[in-house]
Amino acid sequence: MKRIILFGAPGSGKGTQAEKIEREFSFRKISTGDLIRVEVQKKSVIGKKIEEFSSKGLLVPNEIIIEMVNNRVQSSDVKGGYVLDGFPRTLDQVKGLSIVPADEEVAVFLRVDEDTIVKRILSRVSCENCGNVFNTISQLPVRVNICDQCGAALTRRNDDTEEIIKKRIVVYREETLPVINFYRGKGNLHELDASLDINTVWSEIRGLLK
Ligand code: AMP
Repeated sequence: MKRIILFGAPGSGKGTQAEKIEREFSFRKISTGDLIRVEVQKKSVIGKKIEEFSSKGLLVPNEIIIEMVNNRVQSSDVKGGYVLDGFPRTLDQVKGLSIVPADEEVAVFLRVDEDTIVKRILSRVSCENCGNVFNTISQLPVRVNICDQCGAALTRRNDDTEEIIKKRIVVYREETLPVINFYRGKGNLHELDASLDINTVWSEIRGLLK
């Protein structure tokens, strides 16, 4: 089974590119942020436990997220391979992932500066039903506030406020940059300029996967 890992700060475009990879190739998108939002919305036991972290821009405890990912990759629909969006985000999560077998792994780092990230996140809206992401400046839906893909309403994420974004960026620097450095050290990290427009980034990723 092939595994693709997308790295990048919040707002670097991981979700958008993972969506494109899923549509073009036979990989399933596994977004840990989406998995978390589903649990929080359902107000499940686990959802109640993790909301206190995710609502503040903090990382959910490693053991919870590792178990969620482990369960998800064992589902029958991910047999053709999967693309990870938002995982691993800590070195402990790297350890957790290392025991999940993969025949081949491609790691991609979507590099983008912090000013661009904040601007992008503040203009981001997403579908409350399918998670499809739009941007009120650069990636408008065809109909105002309606998802092109499924017709549901577009909303802003609760954690997309300026204050929480700043916290998420600090967490990214402290916890996730070491993970990216680790993959860079292994020599199999593809680094892309993700400040470019979506389609330019996409054609580079597509080229890597063909
Ligand atoms: P995202 O949609 O990837 O920006 O994730 C939204 C929030 O979910 C993050 O701010 C964290 O609270 C939580 N989260 C997502 N992925 C992870 C992860 N791999 N480890 C811990 N927390 C995560």
